[in-house]
Formats: sequence, C-alpha cells, structure tokens
Amino acid sequence: MSNTQHTVLIVGGGAAGVSVANTMRRMDKAIDIAIIEPSEKHYYQPGFTIIGGGAYSLAKATKNEADLINPSVTWIKDYADSFQPDNNSVTLRSGDTVSYDYLVVCPGLQLDWDKIAGLKDTLGKNGVCSNYSKDTVEYTWECIKNIESGTALFTQPPMPIKCAGAPQKIMYLAADRFRKKGILDKFDIEFCNAGPGMFGVPFFAKALTEVIKDYGIKTSFGHNLVSIDGAAKTATFATTDTDGNKQEITKKFDMIHVTPPQSAPDFIKKSPLANDGGWVAVNDKSLQHTKYANVFGLGDVASTPNAKTAAAVRKQVPVVVDNIFHLIKKEALDEKYTGYGSCPLTTSLSTVMLAEFSYGGKVTPSFPLLDPRKNRLIWWWGKISGFPWLYWSWMIKGHRLDIPSKESYAAKFTKES
Ligand SMILES: Cc1cc2nc3c(=O)[nH]c(=O)nc-3n(C[C@H](O)[C@H](O)[C@H](O)COP(=O)(O)OP(=O)(O)OC[C@H]3O[C@@H](n4cnc5c(N)ncnc54)[C@H](O)[C@@H]3O)c2cc1C
Repeated sequence: MSNTQHTVLIVGGGAAGVSVANTMRRMDKAIDIAIIEPSEKHYYQPGFTIIGGGAYSLAKATKNEADLINPSVTWIKDYADSFQPDNNSVTLRSGDTVSYDYLVVCPGLQLDWDKIAGLKDTLGKNGVCSNYSKDTVEYTWECIKNIESGTALFTQPPMPIKCAGAPQKIMYLAADRFRKKGILDKFDIEFCNAGPGMFGVPFFAKALTEVIKDYGIKTSFGHNLVSIDGAAKTATFATTDTDGNKQEITKKFDMIHVTPPQSAPDFIKKSPLANDGGWVAVNDKSLQHTKYANVFGLGDVASTPNAKTAAAVRKQVPVVVDNIFHLIKKEALDEKYTGYGSCPLTTSLSTVMLAEFSYGGKVTPSFPLLDPRKNRLIWWWGKISGFPWLYWSWMIKGHRLDIPSKESYAAKFTKES
C-alpha cells in the first residue's frame, strides 16, 4: 500500500471538483493539486432534461475527464473510501492513502434507486424512464417520442434532490411534444410530488401553477412513489393528505418518469465529516468544514441549504478557492456564498422560466429589468447553447465569472406577486 502527499486534495471531479482544481491552477501555477475521481467521463447533467425532451444529445453532454483536468493536476483514478481528518488523510478503495494539507470534498450525491421497490428491474423498459442517469436518459426521449395516448406520470421524491425543478421540467417538454403532435388531449398527465407544492420558492411556484393549468396537468401533492410494477404498469404511492391522513394509492400508467430519492453518498454518511443528515458539514457562507478548518465542502454533497445545482457550484467555487489561499496566507476567510442557485425551468420546447434565488427563498436574478416569472425564448437558447458553453468553456476551465445576482433586480416583480 502506498501513501502519497498533496498540498490540495480534491475528492470528486465533477462540476465542482474540476472547476476548483482548474481555478486554483490559474491563480497559482506551482501549487500541488490532486483530484480523486474514478470516472473516465464527465457529464453535463443540466443537459439531461433536454436530452430526455429530444432537444439535445448525450454525446454533446459527455466529455473525457482527461481533457478537462489541467495536465499539471495529479489525477488519482480511484474512489475515495474513508476519511481520517485528524491525520489529514483519505483512504482509497485500493487501500492506498493520500495525505493533504487542504481537503476539498465534492463527490456529489447518491441516487437511491433501491428505495423504490421494483424500480431497478423495470427502469429503461415498460415505459419507465428517468433523466437522472446517463444510462436511462435517452430512454425518456424514446418513451415521449413513441407514446400516442394514455396516462403519463411524473414523480418527485422528498427533498433534497439535485435540480429540484428537473422532475417537472421534463413533464412540460413531454406535454409540449404531445401538443405539437396534436395529441395532448389524448393524455392524462399527472405530477405526483412527495412535497406540498409546485416549487420551494413561492414566487416561482405561483407562476408554475399557470404553466400546469395551460397543459391541463393534474397535480397530486403528498404523493411519494414507493413501488413500481413495470409489467403490470402500476405505481404505488405513500400519500399524506392536508389533514395528515396516510394511505397507499396505486395508479396505472402508460409511461412514468421517475426521479429517484437522493441522499449523501454512503462513504460520506459514515465519515467524520458528515452532519446528522449525512451531508458534509460546512459553514453556509464560507464553505469551511464546521470542525476541521483545513477541509471544505461544496456542490451537491454540502450541508448548505441551497438548491443543489451546477449554478450554485459556479458561485461556490471562487469562495472555496479564495478561502484556501486565505488559509495558506493566514488571512481571515471570506463569507461570501449567499446560497445562490438557479433552475432554468423548461416550460416548453422553446421557453424557459429562469428561476434564480438564494438562501431564504430570496429571488435574486442576474439580469435587471426582466420579470423572472416570464417564459422566455432567450433563456431557451441559453439552456441549449449558452449555459453549456458557460459550463464547459468558463466554469470547468477555471475562469472566474462573477455575474452579480441581486434581490433589488426583482423587487418590482416580487412586490407585485
Ligand atoms: C436531470 C438533471 C437536471 C439538472 N439540471 C440542472 C440545471 O438545469 N441547472 C443546474 O445548474 N444544475 C442542474 N443539475 C444539477 C447539477 O448537475 C449538479 O448540481 C452538479 O453537477 C453538482 O456538481 P458536483 O460536482 O457537486 O457533483 P457531480 O457533478 O455529480 O460530480 C460528482 C463527481 O464525484 C465523483 N465521485 C463519486 N463518488 C466518488 C468517490 N467515492 N470518490 C471520488 N469521486 C467520486 C463522481 O464520479 C462525479 O464525477 C441537474 C442534474 C440532473 C441529474
């Protein structure tokens, strides 16, 4: 078993990990950085919604990890398995250990497919699809393309999940496809959501209710998918009504888009870095670990109560990078992360409602004058061209792009609502 040492060690080479490494490298040509990342491929997950909706390809959303990580950063192609923060070391699945001066933890979150009985056996066939995996996202489009009538269910599990808007975004793309084919009236479309409303931020929830109405979609809140029988085409939900009464309800479907329950990765949950909920316990504003000063967490795995999105990662990366340099220089840390996250809600095959918000559900758009509740063509172009370019060519490459997002930009519109 070997032991190696690096100044900065990053666990996870997804949206957050590669961006942190490449941003640090741009700021310091000499600092010794290593990333632990097992996957040869890197996926642009925000593109999965439009792949499922037939407006993008998996090939476009996939790049080789080797082409993204700066060659002067050491890539350790293995899984991190356990943490020994008192000794500043991480043990890999191979049994090797890696020591560090500063640790950045960002292995994303875990998709708990197993929590829905019967799902694994039927996912990818029998009209059971999900945008949440690279292995099943193309099947979503097959389902939407081929179905001509019937019942289409779209499920949303309890929070937190990554991109909380994604379970309904694909529903609107499907409904718009059906409308364009002239068959929307042949469908019963139902949004079965474990939560109590359309969206966590009331300002946008209200606007989304109009979208739902326009497509004639039925909403069933307090409906948590617990099992699925693909061959019989039935889905069973544990339901809780507004009075707290509980029962199980089974529904027939012709197609069902499933968003799986999600949690922190198991190796994080059992580590000394986890909070009670299993997430990496960090300060909400500085992203520094609450117990280990030389450890930072960001991205989907972090305990911060923001929307788990790549947009949040864009704002978190500079905070983590600057704070590591502050620690090295023995300076005070910045507390600059405001909880920003964003969800481009694809409300049709040509419009997006760009929901941008921060801690406490504050509406914080990046663009003044524009009503954030409006469904706009310009954000659709953003979704299919601009945002992917921003991801691959700016954020992942380690360029800093601080577009300010301000509550004052939305003041006029939030007062109206
Ligand atoms: C369907 C869908 C739609 C979405 N839509 C949007 C959107 O419109 N806008 C938006 O901003 N965001 C969206 N997101 C969310 C966004 O993709 C994530 O929030 C973002 O990728 C989080 O970055 P991350 O680096 O924390 O995790 P990830 O990008 O998931 O990266 C985690 C990395 O850690 C690695 N890893 C896992 N386990 C280990 C281990 N043991 N050791 C080492 N490495 C490990 C993984 O291989 C992976 O490369 C969407 C996500 C999905 C699934």
